[in-house]
Amino acid sequence: MKAEIVSIGTELLFGEIDDTNATYISRQLTSIGIDVNLRHAVDDELAHIVQVLGTAMRRSDVVITCGGLGPTPDDLTRQAITQVTNRALQTVPAAEQQLRDFFAKRHRKISSTNLKQCQVPRGGQLLDNPVGTAPGLLVEHEGCVLIAVPGPPPEMRLMMTKHVIPYLRKRLQEQGEMPLFTRTLRTADIGEADLAEQLKDILANQSDPALALYASPGEVRIRMHTKAPSQQEANKKLGDLENSIRQQIGEHVYGTDDETMEVAVGKVLTAAGATVVVAESCTGGLIASRITDVPGSSRYFRGGYVTYSNELKQQLLGVPAQILQQHGAVSEECARAMAEGARESSGADYALAVTGIAGPTGGTAQKPVGRVYIAVADEQGTICQQFDWPGTRSQFKHRTSQMALNMLRKRVLGLV
Ligand code: AMP
Ligand code: MG
Repeated sequence: MKAEIVSIGTELLFGEIDDTNATYISRQLTSIGIDVNLRHAVDDELAHIVQVLGTAMRRSDVVITCGGLGPTPDDLTRQAITQVTNRALQTVPAAEQQLRDFFAKRHRKISSTNLKQCQVPRGGQLLDNPVGTAPGLLVEHEGCVLIAVPGPPPEMRLMMTKHVIPYLRKRLQEQGEMPLFTRTLRTADIGEADLAEQLKDILANQSDPALALYASPGEVRIRMHTKAPSQQEANKKLGDLENSIRQQIGEHVYGTDDETMEVAVGKVLTAAGATVVVAESCTGGLIASRITDVPGSSRYFRGGYVTYSNELKQQLLGVPAQILQQHGAVSEECARAMAEGARESSGADYALAVTGIAGPTGGTAQKPVGRVYIAVADEQGTICQQFDWPGTRSQFKHRTSQMALNMLRKRVLGLV
């Protein structure tokens, strides 16, 4: 089944807001095995919307629009659908009652423009919107399902998961199409090119499940997908491929699917019954923030020091003045002293410390922008690694936090 997405709103074309709805809708459709072939962004101009919808509906099995369903004069999606399908608008009585109740409860007066929202092109249906006033709509026309969802992201998301996806899943089944199943292996500390090299035999011969690598700062994902009649059969195919991938590069895999690095770290610390403290300079608290994004992290996270200045590195972590004078704050010696100091004063089993130059200014020939030292201290001693990364300040901070958490994870597992 082929789909197109049409995002409607002049603000999208001005670049004022990002078209995050299209990304979300793409992901949802892909997850059930629908192929999204084209995406469009159109301004609030009736003729433009009509033109794009007309072409999309002739070409694809499913067209999803988002935005322009509200009551204001620039909301033209309903009108455009009426034109394209050449059907008269009809009021849905139950929806009108619901909207009247919604306004009455809030002591607001309902207007005729609000009531417009209860109309569908003949033969179509409204999609309930429990978190807003604009319902969605769905109409089948000449072999194409046209679905319109509202623009506000929370309303759009709820409508997708509650109505659109179940509807389309059923339609796929009716047409005898097998659903799509995916599994993602998440790797750190190996680049995309190295990964492709190590997996080259598998990549060259693999078609079902299909296999693809996606790189982003600090991580490469290995995504596998297959169509199968049941979850069980999909699990068998995906599991076999996962095993052969893990045989090649298993040491780099830190998690699967939605499992983030901070979740993976939480799991290994919990399994080891160990605690951790962090001492951060250049990441300014990002590592502590990521660790505490995980529910239940109080079981293993003791806390953190954000020691940006040399003074605090000395006062709170006991970094010797002599290290700072002789080697500077961005040095292996300082990272080690920060980790050891944090571990000692907190009593945690593990201490993670980072110090580096996020840039874009402040670099020197000996210590360029992008240089960072990451140290992990535990009862066996302290390990430290140096990295030099390209990229912006925020990429630097993210990469550092990712690599630091991964070093901690590997240390707890006894891999480094
Ligand atoms: P609308 O349904 O066109 O009245 O849109 C209402 C609001 O939803 C807009 O002002 C945006 O803030 C948001 N919105 C609309 N379309 C999108 C989109 N494609 N992606 C993200 N947000 C959107
Ligand atoms: Mg709009």
